Amino acid sequence: MKDPKEPILVTRSSMPPLEEFIEEIRPIWDSHWLTNMGVYHERFKEQLNQFLGVPHTELFVNGHMALEMAIQAMGLTGEVITTPFTFVSTTHAIVRNGLTPVFCDINPEDFTIDVSKLEALITDRTSAIIPVHVYGNLCDVDTIDAIAKKHGLKVFYDAAHAFGERYHGKGVGTFGDASMFSFHATKVFHSIEGGAVCYHDEALGKELYKLKNFGILSEEVIDGVGANAKMNEFQAAMGICNLRHLDEEIAKRKQVFQHYMSRLQGVKGLRLPAHKPGLESNYAYFPVIFEEEVFGESRDQVYDRLRSCGIIARKYFYPLTNACDCYKGRFSPERTPTALKISMQVLTLPLYADLSLTDVDRICQIVLEQKSEKVGLT
Ligand SMILES: *Cc1c(COP(=O)(O)O)cnc(C)c1O
Repeated sequence: MKDPKEPILVTRSSMPPLEEFIEEIRPIWDSHWLTNMGVYHERFKEQLNQFLGVPHTELFVNGHMALEMAIQAMGLTGEVITTPFTFVSTTHAIVRNGLTPVFCDINPEDFTIDVSKLEALITDRTSAIIPVHVYGNLCDVDTIDAIAKKHGLKVFYDAAHAFGERYHGKGVGTFGDASMFSFHATKVFHSIEGGAVCYHDEALGKELYKLKNFGILSEEVIDGVGANAKMNEFQAAMGICNLRHLDEEIAKRKQVFQHYMSRLQGVKGLRLPAHKPGLESNYAYFPVIFEEEVFGESRDQVYDRLRSCGIIARKYFYPLTNACDCYKGRFSPERTPTALKISMQVLTLPLYADLSLTDVDRICQIVLEQKSEKVGLT
């Protein structure tokens, strides 16, 4: 258990043993090769293909650039259907490519795109669907696939939350035309900063490679207006180290997750995460929905109370991306009412591999404090 005076943050980066990392990076001092698709970059890519069970992967400096460049490489135009219940990066990547995000509502069960509302949003300007596997909850990939095929649309998943998951034995990165993973320090798996796009079509891979490296095809041929989004050798080395420990990390997360479940299950007015049958979860997040009328307290009240005890939960995702200040007047969050409601009710509780079960007990006790007092009175 942590010193109760020390704050508990919503997440804490996992670190490989220091000696292991030092051993891993020692050869870099001999080679002097620090970036530009060196041996670590290539090794990491191979390991990811294996681990994720995907045909191809292109590495990036971070997840956001992976999103932006994949959207560009896919040649998307006009409108893209997505959801506002995500990290703002998803929406920014669409807008920064000069495209119009069309927001589809989410379903209230697992907060992924509501496939029953998807088709009504397709117009003759729609080029793609960019759904998000929120909290690692897998989207309805089969229905999305069927709708996309019927209308000739591309599908690109924001899989930033879903690293390492499998659905009926298939790696999550295999669905759709491509998927993006983020290896940011706060994610289940990280390379300090980093990202990847997994894809099927080799032509897309060539385009991705070019875009992240200034459009350079060969020494004298620059045939694309690219940028710089390469992953460096230290990032790749960190990724390689962390990948070795990922199974244990996820097993520890699972224990924390299950302890939360055992403490909070059955409490009226709380909705806890549920995993789709057939999904091997990575236990990335523990989002709780607070139904104020039943629970007796709002999400914001619980958030404040936790905070006053040094426990920093997160209103993740609040605000919706279509309600962000930079998009004021441009989009209407009222058009995605379920997402709007959930964004007011959701609180993501601290969850990381080294969070002690005693700390989980304390967090749950604080969450239920008011409630138990009230129950005590009746
Ligand atoms: C983290 C995240 C991103 C951005 O990834 P970075 O590696 O931080 O750039 C995009 N989408 C979602 C859903 C994320 O959680």
